[in-house]
Amino acid sequence: MLKISPINAFSDNYIWLIQTNEGNTLVDPGDSKPIISTIDKLSITIDDILITHHHYDHIGGLESLKPLIKGSVIGPKNNSIDLLDKHVGEGDTIKSIGLEFSIFEVPGHTLDHIAFYSETEKEVLFCGDTIFSGGCGRVFEGTFEQMNHSLEKLMSLPSKTEIYCAHEYTLSNLKFALLAEPNNLNLKEYQLDSTDKRKNNIPTIPTTLGQELQINPFLRVAEISLREAISDKLDTSNQASNAEVFGFLRSWKDSL
Ligand code: ZN
Ligand code: FE
Repeated sequence: MLKISPINAFSDNYIWLIQTNEGNTLVDPGDSKPIISTIDKLSITIDDILITHHHYDHIGGLESLKPLIKGSVIGPKNNSIDLLDKHVGEGDTIKSIGLEFSIFEVPGHTLDHIAFYSETEKEVLFCGDTIFSGGCGRVFEGTFEQMNHSLEKLMSLPSKTEIYCAHEYTLSNLKFALLAEPNNLNLKEYQLDSTDKRKNNIPTIPTTLGQELQINPFLRVAEISLREAISDKLDTSNQASNAEVFGFLRSWKDSL
């Protein structure tokens, strides 16, 4: 059994509750209040907590939750995050509630950012603020080069991988994606679909890697069709590198 449910927090955060026959694990508990009401309602206890990066909207609930958990708090190699029991990095594997997770270091949004990937039951990725549906995290601490490399790393996972990111940013991301690639039919279809879901208050997350490769401009920087679509804004004739195209798109979106 593997069940993954969102707990809404703040205005657009998803805290993920992972449940198996062996227990319950949380990812990025930014706020303890909605979690405590969820675990009370379900009469469950929390085993472990996984942390992707140091931003407050991902760790803010740790202080109140730590005394309540049976297992450990596992996060990146960043000593500025208090209350971590285990620091993990690239190539490490951890076990939680019967699932094995591989750790990827994905610097860019922050330098400490990591992602948790499991294929024990099915392919699932918890990537915090790295890939969003239709977009990616802002590059606050790393370089465009680093962030692009981090995205490429995650793009090499199986295309059926379910992506559990930490924010519901899909509709606003798709607006930008359509500016970049107005003739992408998959993207138009996905926008209709996602708009429908949000109207009915249904999360657009999880998405899949296969879906994102079709519609997410930040994962499409090597695609001829995307490069052609932006060729009036960026000179791609001199064979701009993938990182350059990524940097152009990210700066363009940030400027809007
Ligand atoms: Zn963040
Ligand atoms: Fe965030």
